[in-house]
Amino acid sequence: MTTLEIRDLHVDVAQSDADAEPIHILKGVDLTVSSGETHAIMGPNGSGKSTLSYAIAGHPKYVVTQGSITLDGEDVLEMTVDERARAGLFLAMQYPVEVPGVSMSNFLRTAATAVRGEAPKLRHWVKETKEAMTELDIDPSFAERSVNEGFSGGEKKRHEILQLGLLKPGIAILDETDSGLDVDALRVVSEGVNRYKERENGGVLLITHYTRILRYIHPDHVHVFVNGRIVESGGPELADELEENGYERFTAGVRA
Ligand code: ADP
Ligand code: MG
Ligand code: MG
Repeated sequence: MTTLEIRDLHVDVAQSDADAEPIHILKGVDLTVSSGETHAIMGPNGSGKSTLSYAIAGHPKYVVTQGSITLDGEDVLEMTVDERARAGLFLAMQYPVEVPGVSMSNFLRTAATAVRGEAPKLRHWVKETKEAMTELDIDPSFAERSVNEGFSGGEKKRHEILQLGLLKPGIAILDETDSGLDVDALRVVSEGVNRYKERENGGVLLITHYTRILRYIHPDHVHVFVNGRIVESGGPELADELEENGYERFTAGVRA
């Protein structure tokens, strides 16, 4: 059982111009995600959803100015990025990075070694990755390609879900995993997330702008995210309402 607890989180983002004032983006986020639960965070573009995921992951540009993030009571904000991964946090980013010159198979084995604390036995590992790739309809030749280099949007997302299946984190944060996917890829990716939920009893924080992916991955809790905070929480019916009426009811009167 793993619990990610976010309390009164305020985050500034540093601007590229070092002399410019940082921008205050998250304005008091409260959220608890435990094993076996799926939470959807839904909000308009620019509301700060990715900022929340970057802050949890420990991206250096995103500075926590107030509040706390803990994983099973341990202070996540005190952990390095690697320590967060070892502690059981996984982040699939909206814009995955390309790593030229590093093959997928090396990358995955290095990541698994870091997270598990020892290198997976080679024979076992080959079998494990093959099976995981088959489940996600990933061509075996992928293993020798450079990480994300020249990958299509759908291939990048499959690769992330492959990592999810192999690294078996306690809590997975998926930022717009649905963006740019055609229906087939969306189904394969969603099935991968659902397998992770089932097999690992994983906790999922699903960040999304559109309700489409929620037809495949069913959230227990839905949170509407506007202007750097959660403005309403509910069950799946809240997503249905958003599908029908959009964000207007929540954004009316809100100013950045
Ligand atoms: P969302 O994921 O909901 O679309 P983001 O977290 O990406 O929202 O962005 C929230 C706001 O913060 C936006 O106004 C965005 O322009 C700004 N922002 C995010 N990251 C940066 C950055 N690195 N530099 C400057 N502004 C940023
Ligand atoms: Mg965005
Ligand atoms: Mg985003």
